[in-house]
Amino acid sequence: MRIVSGKDNISEMCADLLQDESNLSGAWCESAAWPENADEAADYIKECSRKGIPFTVSGGLTGISGGALPEGGSVISSSSMKNISMLDNGNVTASAGITIEELNNFISANAKGFFYPPDPTEETASVGGTIATDASGADSYLYGSTRKWVEGLQIILPGGRILNIERGHHFFKNLTCIHPVLGTIHLPSLSREQPPKNTAGYYMRPNMDLIDLFIGSEGTLGFITEAKLKLAPEPEYLIDLSVFPEKAESFWKLYDSLLHAEKPLRIRALEMMDDRCIAFMRMHPGELPPPPENAAFVLLLRAEADSDEHLEETLVLLDEMLTESNASPNTAWGGFEPSERKRIKDFRHALPEAVNHCISESRRKYPLIHKYGSDGAVGPFKLREYYNITRKILEESDLPFVIFGHAGQSHIHANAIPENPRQMDLADEAMRRIAKAAVEMGGTISAEHGLGKLKFDYLSMMYSEDEIKAMDAIKNRIRSCI
Ligand SMILES: Cc1cc2nc3c(=O)[nH]c(=O)nc-3n(C[C@H](O)[C@H](O)[C@H](O)COP(=O)(O)OP(=O)(O)OC[C@H]3O[C@@H](n4cnc5c(N)ncnc54)[C@H](O)[C@@H]3O)c2cc1C
Repeated sequence: MRIVSGKDNISEMCADLLQDESNLSGAWCESAAWPENADEAADYIKECSRKGIPFTVSGGLTGISGGALPEGGSVISSSSMKNISMLDNGNVTASAGITIEELNNFISANAKGFFYPPDPTEETASVGGTIATDASGADSYLYGSTRKWVEGLQIILPGGRILNIERGHHFFKNLTCIHPVLGTIHLPSLSREQPPKNTAGYYMRPNMDLIDLFIGSEGTLGFITEAKLKLAPEPEYLIDLSVFPEKAESFWKLYDSLLHAEKPLRIRALEMMDDRCIAFMRMHPGELPPPPENAAFVLLLRAEADSDEHLEETLVLLDEMLTESNASPNTAWGGFEPSERKRIKDFRHALPEAVNHCISESRRKYPLIHKYGSDGAVGPFKLREYYNITRKILEESDLPFVIFGHAGQSHIHANAIPENPRQMDLADEAMRRIAKAAVEMGGTISAEHGLGKLKFDYLSMMYSEDEIKAMDAIKNRIRSCI
């Protein structure tokens, strides 16, 4: 196992460990290790625990909340853990360091007709990192987040013990789970229901499976070394569309009719970008064609069909909806070909990339600048209200911003793009107001990115002091297992 010791050695030889997509600065650590298997990882973690050295888990470093960035102690990286194989039951077992791209390539070669639904856009994200953040993607509208696709986990507990958990074996009953290794774990009785799409705090449901406590725990309950992942059958047809309504009203009309659509329409992804995104992409053109001239909003849609008849019905229904909402089908992009799917995916990816590029440019002058992104989601059918509140807050702050996201799940990302330190303070304030607004509407401060270092102190917006203490008690219980 590769180990590098010494703060200066790490900054010189492996500076990449100290930077992720949050662009937070100031990360440092005294040592770092790259185990190749669970036994090496367990030995290293046991040694850290014996010496009282805290450790931070690092995956693909695509996280946006800074959870993988150390503040001293040690770093343990999954990037050298690269085993992957098919199981007899059609599931895949993958080491934590396998990237989503490697996983998808493996599935294409070994499990024809199947796919792994979680798709957090950034394909260099690792299996371990996506489980630790319970990552979602565009297709989570139909297929749910990563949690739904994890059947088993191998975890090195913070004391160095290797734990294997299979879904369906250990459950909480009346908020309590008794486990032979972990002992008795109590969940708090929450004062408000956890929103359906939520990665703020531990996953806590009265009769849940124990495995779900570890999914989304952001590296605080141990180092995930391996996972058993379930696959889904590919549908016969995939229809990808990027629609460019010329008026906000026609975007919301189309959105409403798609949200209320019933069978036979099977919508897999329903995403949006607002007029600020379009203007921003025009100002920072990449290699992709810009959106049509008069576009006011972008609605990105993916639907599935199982047969020729189903495809025909789906196309007729979509055409009717577009026409009724005055979103001209003539300017839409899309089709059935993988090349069209890639074009739309690249288009969707181009926006966060362009935002990150702008931030990097501003950092040349002000090195502490980073992006501020909201990750709030609200209940079904409340998106328009939440979008309007978010937009009003950002306009009042007089900041450069864009708003986009997973419209189908009432989950949007507002990115404030500060260009100087004064705007950073304004962005920080605006993000807190946006997070509070989501909570006041019954939603969450973080629906997919996790809290990491950036948003950890938002937790008290959503949970009471006693609930936070109960989460601490869970963490301490698991950390005390040796
Ligand atoms: C352009 C762009 C688009 C994105 N789009 C999405 C999106 O659509 N949906 C979405 O959910 N996310 C998105 N993300 C965020 C990011 O890709 C996800 O959070 C991803 O799940 C992080 O995985 P990672 O391997 O990079 O983890 P890292 O960034 O390395 O770590 C993230 C967290 O997981 C913990 N962790 C990592 N590996 C392990 C492990 N083996 N065991 C225990 N804990 C671990 C870390 O300690 C940290 O707290 C996007 C990021 C970018 C840059």
